Amino acid sequence: MALRFYNTLSLKVEDFVPADGKTVRMYTCGPTVYNYVHIGNLRTFTFQDILRRWLRARGFVLDHVMNITDVEDKIIRNAMAQNMTIGDYTKPYEVAFLEDIATLRLEKPERIVRATEHVHEMVEAVEQLNAKGFTYESDGSTYYRIAKFPEYGKLSHHDFSGSRAGARVDVDEYEKDDARDFVLWKARKDNEPCWPASMGEGRPGWHIECSVMAMKYLGETLDIHAGGIDLAFPHHENEIAQSEALTGKPFSKYWLHAEHLIVEGQKMSKSLGNFFTLRDLMEKGYSPEVVRYLFVTVPYNKKLNFTFDGLKAAATSIERLRNYKLRVETGKFGEGANAAISERIAKALQQFEDSMDDDLNTAEALAAAFELIRDTNSAMDSGEFLAGNAKEALAFLDRFDSVFDVLKPSVAEGAITDAEIEALISERVVAKKTKNFKRSDEIRAELLEKGVILEDTKEGARWKRK
Ligand code: AMP
Ligand code: ZN
Repeated sequence: MALRFYNTLSLKVEDFVPADGKTVRMYTCGPTVYNYVHIGNLRTFTFQDILRRWLRARGFVLDHVMNITDVEDKIIRNAMAQNMTIGDYTKPYEVAFLEDIATLRLEKPERIVRATEHVHEMVEAVEQLNAKGFTYESDGSTYYRIAKFPEYGKLSHHDFSGSRAGARVDVDEYEKDDARDFVLWKARKDNEPCWPASMGEGRPGWHIECSVMAMKYLGETLDIHAGGIDLAFPHHENEIAQSEALTGKPFSKYWLHAEHLIVEGQKMSKSLGNFFTLRDLMEKGYSPEVVRYLFVTVPYNKKLNFTFDGLKAAATSIERLRNYKLRVETGKFGEGANAAISERIAKALQQFEDSMDDDLNTAEALAAAFELIRDTNSAMDSGEFLAGNAKEALAFLDRFDSVFDVLKPSVAEGAITDAEIEALISERVVAKKTKNFKRSDEIRAELLEKGVILEDTKEGARWKRK
């Protein structure tokens, strides 16, 4: 079966093919850097990482742009309250964000672009919209006139019957003609940071940055645009209105939205105060790969209820995967390959790939792995599992981990390296052979102190990090 995604635009699952058959031109909305991101945000960014990895596994090349929103109301308010420039205020949060995504093993998009570095292009886009008659001015600010774009609502499938054209609704402190109209350019207020523009000094509204940066780097029609579900309306709807008014072409072929991470039934969010950052969880002793694993236990298009029990279960699952890998790597198996087991592993690989192709059904993909582990563990117990099967099982784990990336333990800085561990283990083998049990015990204690557990088996010593 072909690779397919649920497209919010069509409300259908569609086969995926990029326009040129090879390169996926993808835009994802990045963070607003006014604070640390929380694990709700990170669930969405992890979905984008899994999406990237699976597209590549399927032979596509990525050209992925993510923006950093480094100018908006909260940023301006906080920076001014602390007497800082917006650049000085946002920089540490941008750095923290990049650190967090690296810690979570998220691949970096090909381009990460800042809103403040594209204001000039945003001004030009607003001028063009103005020339085409899509805007009006009110109190010095420039608004997008939704009534001029009849397709408005086609992404979020919103029913706008309740919002009347001409109703004067006071949002954003300015007067708008229609409740749906949104600001493209905000007039300068007091001594807030501002940029020069033919519309008058001011700053961009939030939506215009994504239209401008997406089309600048990726062209007029993207293959994929993705983000959290809360962005579908109004943000992405407004991006479509702006971009399509400018080009007359579809803005993006596929629209993918990740469902929320929730806590006790409510969306995790800064404003509700019900959030954890990745840093909070690491302080509590959870490793980044446990958080990563928790995210993929539920497919991206379903809500994920965050609990500490869920995190603990994720840690246990990773433990099982790693123990299995160790057993396959270090076990002494007979020569050859058992054909029935080879077939079993090939079937698991097929199930894994079919599940990922099916709109990234990560829960099913994990299930395929665990069923294989159960079956092949019993084949190892009974001696049917042979050396050739070990190779196949490891190839399966490689494919699995090229997407999920949870098998390798995160190594804390200054921690003992794998090579150092192996060297000590070899020394211990010699110590034992020469009956130097004192040294052999010392090595075990030293490794334990460095967080490495040794397990002596018939097949030799195995080790794992605590
Ligand atoms: P923001 O920095 O608020 O613009 O959000 C960055 C990304 O995180 C956006 O794609 C949001 O849709 C997403 N997001 C925000 N809260 C959650 C949540 N609780 N669960 C999943 N994604 C979220
Ligand atoms: Zn955006």
